[in-house]
Amino acid sequence: MAAPAIDINPDQAQPFLKEVMDRSGQNLSACYQCRRCAAGCSVGDETDFFTPNLLIRMVVLGDRERALNNQLVWKCVSCYTCGTRCPNDIQTARITETLKKMAKAEHLPPLQPKIADFHDAFVRSGIRWGRVNEMEFMGAYEMKFALRNIKARQFGAILDEVKTQAGLGMKMTQLRRMHFGFLIAKGRKEIKALQRKSKQRATH
Ligand code: SF4
Ligand code: SF4
Repeated sequence: MAAPAIDINPDQAQPFLKEVMDRSGQNLSACYQCRRCAAGCSVGDETDFFTPNLLIRMVVLGDRERALNNQLVWKCVSCYTCGTRCPNDIQTARITETLKKMAKAEHLPPLQPKIADFHDAFVRSGIRWGRVNEMEFMGAYEMKFALRNIKARQFGAILDEVKTQAGLGMKMTQLRRMHFGFLIAKGRKEIKALQRKSKQRATH
């Protein structure tokens, strides 16, 4: 499979680039396509040739549709490896997170619905409690996953998910990596206020 072609769109390139730069805090225009980021991407084998440098190029050239919804945006694990390699200190993890939020705000059907469910439950839990409580957020995620699959009448997918998660939960409990407690962060109100501010900025 070859790298995806870019649909160049000069009219929307400038405003789109500005929006992504403002929201992510990353200077995408400094990228000179050296591909050092691409060489070390942790999920490089799973993104259908969507490398960090290609994603940046898509934004710069105004290919909004593909930049908002592609395998890298949904599969990036925010490991920051690409950012540590970049000579211009561009943190692609912040760009993928920004594009993911923009795709959600535009209600685009995600290429990876399961990851979208997980991301949504994780972010909401963090904002609600000021930190992520594993049991609460996993419960919310499983609920989202189940409701979506009930609507699509994919009952087998629910069963598979329950089996997978139960197995994982058992292993993590054995390794003492499972936390059953429930904590609320002291700065929860400040975190909510920050989120409100960032939402307001995004809509102006
Ligand atoms: S390492 Fe940095 S400058 Fe090089 S292609 Fe990647 S983002 Fe662009
Ligand atoms: S932060 Fe995302 S894009 Fe960068 S190396 Fe890690 S997985 Fe790849």
